[in-house]
Amino acid sequence: MSEHRIEVAGVEVATQHYIGGRRVGSASTFEVRSPLDWDWKLADVARGDASTARDAVTAAEEAFPAWAALSAKERAEHLHRLADVIDANVERVAQVETVDMAMRLQSLRERLVHRGAENFRNYADLAAGYEERVWSSKGTENRVIRMPAGPAVIITPWNAPWMLSTWKMAPALAAGNPVVLKPAEWSPLSASILADLADEAGMPPGVLNVVQGIGEEVGAALVADPRVRRISFTGSPEAARHIGRAAAENIVPFTAELGGKGPLLVFEDADLDAAAKKAAWQYDDSGQVCLAGTRLLVQDSIREAFLERFHAYVDTHVLGDSRADDTTITPMIHPDHLARVDGFVQRARDNGDRVVRGGRVRPDGGLFYEPTLVEPASNDSEIVQREVFGPVLTFQTFADEDEGVRLANSTDYGLSGIVYTGSRERAERVGRAVRAGTVWVNTFLVRDLTAPFGGCRISGIGREGGHFALEFHADLKTLQILDGSTG
Ligand code: NAD
Repeated sequence: MSEHRIEVAGVEVATQHYIGGRRVGSASTFEVRSPLDWDWKLADVARGDASTARDAVTAAEEAFPAWAALSAKERAEHLHRLADVIDANVERVAQVETVDMAMRLQSLRERLVHRGAENFRNYADLAAGYEERVWSSKGTENRVIRMPAGPAVIITPWNAPWMLSTWKMAPALAAGNPVVLKPAEWSPLSASILADLADEAGMPPGVLNVVQGIGEEVGAALVADPRVRRISFTGSPEAARHIGRAAAENIVPFTAELGGKGPLLVFEDADLDAAAKKAAWQYDDSGQVCLAGTRLLVQDSIREAFLERFHAYVDTHVLGDSRADDTTITPMIHPDHLARVDGFVQRARDNGDRVVRGGRVRPDGGLFYEPTLVEPASNDSEIVQREVFGPVLTFQTFADEDEGVRLANSTDYGLSGIVYTGSRERAERVGRAVRAGTVWVNTFLVRDLTAPFGGCRISGIGREGGHFALEFHADLKTLQILDGSTG
């Protein structure tokens, strides 16, 4: 094994960038530790800089003409091969992701790694099945053509690295755009495996590049490169503002999938047990889930009955190692993030909000925060209005549907919402009234990959999913030919 390939959880992982089909390093590195045991150093990973960014975009630019010239069906064959290689390497990805990010091993094995393969298959087939719209008007034949746009930069957050990287790269590649992926510095390792799998699947050099490093360094250099034609970002609103400025400078379309502060509304006509169980489930992955329903909004009349069931379900949670089958709440990603989450709760206390359960770092070690419920003093409390991104939920009640919807829509976010009701009419009414990119009724996290996905207000710009992402990665052209003017 070369010095730039190390063993992580029994799996060989490259610590360098992957540019133009080759592994290349940087003069400096950054350290990656495991959230499962902060004393466990996993790797020193190449820390990209402006020259790394330049080289990666050059590789993508050089690969662009040949990749764009392939038919969508030919590109789909490449992506299907990659998906098959992923499916044959589930354990490799799962073992590394579980120690790097602390996602549950069982979920990775059973669902999440395969979902990466599904992302590639789904977009490959959608792009290959695209039928150009053709119609006649004003004495001409009109045709809508999707032109590949050029190199795309994909930037992902630390909380679901494998799933989000594959979800965001797939439409770019299927649409004909080579990609440069920059994963987050707190969980960079599964992206490195993805590069190896792409290599094994025979992806042409330069079509799929991965650069490692810090957002403000190599990330900022990538998004500022004027040769980049699309930027697809998932992360915080704070970083999105910087990236959006760079995109504006170069007049480059950019999508941003950002934070959430989703409401979980429970009406008195709901299946109370199902609602309480799902509410308790919002602590999964230590609440490091953008789509989580973190504001519990419960109708006055069922307050006590709901809380009794909710607490009983929360009591069944098991805080533990992400590799153990019975663990339901895994460690948090990083000591800094644990401290940030605790800071929110301490400020809530100072503000007069009532901490009903939890509210502290678990005393017996590990990066765990106790599942926490806060009854805010007012709807303006910071703990209600800002994304905490940890196992912290707020609890508020409402008298009637109007008040419930008003509270649901009372933050600057609008990523997702969850509604529990037994009434079809209410499901329609409230589902339409909640201002969010996705609203689930009596369920959560069920996803159809062809449906639009994204956020309103500070939760994002643009939509991913299905043809929405493919159109983002294309330059649409209208071709008009005068009737009767050609043979
Ligand atoms: P972050 O914004 O700090 O970082 C995200 C990525 O952006 C990282 O790769 C980082 O290195 C990079 N980055 C940071 N500053 C940059 C800059 N100036 N230029 C270029 N790149 C830069 O977010 P995070 O802490 O990694 O992730 C958590 C956030 O992501 C939460 O707000 C969460 O809600 C959100 N998120 C949203 C979705 C969604 O689909 N809407 C999904 C997952 C996570």
